[in-house]
Amino acid sequence: MDIYDIFQNFRINDLAREAGQAKSHARANEVSLQGLQDQIDHLSMVCLAMSELLEEIGFNKEMLVAKIQEIDLRDGKLDGKFTPAIHCSGCGRKLAPRHVTCLYCGAKVKSDSVVQSQHGR
Ligand SMILES: [Zn+2]
Repeated sequence: MDIYDIFQNFRINDLAREAGQAKSHARANEVSLQGLQDQIDHLSMVCLAMSELLEEIGFNKEMLVAKIQEIDLRDGKLDGKFTPAIHCSGCGRKLAPRHVTCLYCGAKVKSDSVVQSQHGR
């Protein structure tokens, strides 16, 4: 066995290990996707129940769609998503709520500092 064969064996072992890790990551992703799908199914059912109740008391689909658009625009973008902004207590900059510390000044972001943007910004 020459040095090239030894190198090839190392490389093959590395690739086999990486393939094993990729397989285990794929399995973990599959599990978390199933959890997300279950949550979406549950939320769909809750939304259906609420829209049926609203119709029963006189609200119609157009009113619901208008309300959805109004809420969608509260973060400044009509993009089908609502991301309430939080403001850093250190520097006052706007941050996405997923941040634990401020990206700009590093201050710890307090969870009670949620500030909803005004309609259309
Ligand atoms: Zn800050």
